[in-house]
Amino acid sequence: MEVSTKIERISAADVARIRQDFPLLAQKMNGKPIVFLDSAASSQKPNKVIDAVSDYYRKLHANVHRGVYQLSQDATAAFEVGREKARAFINAASSSEVIFVRGATEGINLVASSFGRKFLRQGDEVVVTAMEHHSNIVPWQLICEEKGAFLRVAPINDAGELIMSEFEKLLNDKTRIVAATYVSNALGTVNPVAEIVALAHARGIPVLVDGAQAAPHMKMDVQQLDIDFLAFSGHKMFGPTGIGVLYGKEKWLNAMPPYHGGGEMIKSVTFEKTTYAELPHKFEAGTPDISGVIGLAAAIDYIQEIGQDAIAQYENELLAYATSRLKEVEGIRFIGTARYKASVVSFIVEGTHPYDVGAILDKLGIAVRTGHHCTQPLMDRFGIPGTVRASLAFYNTHDDIDRLVEGVKKAVSMLR
Ligand code: PLP
Repeated sequence: MEVSTKIERISAADVARIRQDFPLLAQKMNGKPIVFLDSAASSQKPNKVIDAVSDYYRKLHANVHRGVYQLSQDATAAFEVGREKARAFINAASSSEVIFVRGATEGINLVASSFGRKFLRQGDEVVVTAMEHHSNIVPWQLICEEKGAFLRVAPINDAGELIMSEFEKLLNDKTRIVAATYVSNALGTVNPVAEIVALAHARGIPVLVDGAQAAPHMKMDVQQLDIDFLAFSGHKMFGPTGIGVLYGKEKWLNAMPPYHGGGEMIKSVTFEKTTYAELPHKFEAGTPDISGVIGLAAAIDYIQEIGQDAIAQYENELLAYATSRLKEVEGIRFIGTARYKASVVSFIVEGTHPYDVGAILDKLGIAVRTGHHCTQPLMDRFGIPGTVRASLAFYNTHDDIDRLVEGVKKAVSMLR
């Protein structure tokens, strides 16, 4: 979008213009104009990102960090510009704290494996919350099993909010790390990250934040929040698939062993002894996803051209509209009614299965997600097999919500 100044408040006309930037939104699904309400799974891509990736392959491609020739140096420069944009996006103190990974999943696995290998001992504890995505549970289970450590789970209330007093009780001198999501993908709950960090740091415990669902919707300032690790994925924030960021404080990253071994991550190699490269390269073995970084940089530019405050405000209004209109559906039960939420409305409707509702919505051209959303323990907590989840982005409109509500009403009338 060609905007020279940030939008103060996103209007219907702005959204109409924004939608022109996303070619896929002009398509039909099952013969109907698509209503895309699955951005929490993966967002659509603006032309700016698509063009950046395609231009890179057309005009700039060469491997990075290796060539003496101009093309390789230009590709390296573009790649490192991407790192600097990612640094600024989260306000990290240094670009050496920005590690490119495949996505939030790989970022969390890196920390669980590498931090865990160095700092976890038998009988130690890792604290997570009851609303974590599997990718912030299973990596910790793997390392806990290996080390004889234990996973402790901070409970949530019926609204889907973390019970802070219970979270605090779990922190003790055996706790080595806290891993918590910023925004729940299944409930939309926004967790009080600053408070979580303050409580953990008061006991000298570092905190990893899963920012996968926060990155597209709100500002994440790692210095202000004093986060130790932050992981997020490019594809959920309008960038390409296969690229993500792991932020880590230098003091931790320097203390941790490498995750993967290979080219790029070494200083020198002999068969007797290998020494490792400085940050961030120590954690970036092998040829990186160069086009992914360039696409991610374009996505960051795109988000910042619109403005993160304006995005958050617009999406909050749209979420409130969706929630209030869905209340018209008889027998609806919202899963996730936290006071602070972002861009997700999850629900079940009495007498229907989420999958059947989703399948009928699909026929009407409406893309939602159904199922457990990779949060099976959370679904167990609510005693349900899954939900219907509509997730929003700034390219969604009030009309999208109206079509969702009419679609759900129709599905319910067919299924009951
Ligand atoms: N964390 C949360 C909260 C998510 O919603 C997701 C994906 O849905 C992930 C982590 C994993 O992201 P990725 O699959 O991009 O690695």
